[in-house]
Amino acid sequence: MHCSEVRTAISARVDGEELPPDISAEELDAHLRACADCRGWGERARRLRVLAAALDLA
Ligand SMILES: [Zn+2]
Repeated sequence: MHCSEVRTAISARVDGEELPPDISAEELDAHLRACADCRGWGERARRLRVLAAALDLA
């Protein structure tokens, strides 16, 4: 599994959307455990999502 596919799935999860059909939640979690780069990317994506939600409320 490539990091680019994983990041598409992370971004879908962060947005509360369905994961892409070619990646399961288990595969996503397994990759996140193994790949520090994607963990960091996912963390930034979550923070951005929280920030965007806060701005929408303002
Ligand atoms: Zn990765």
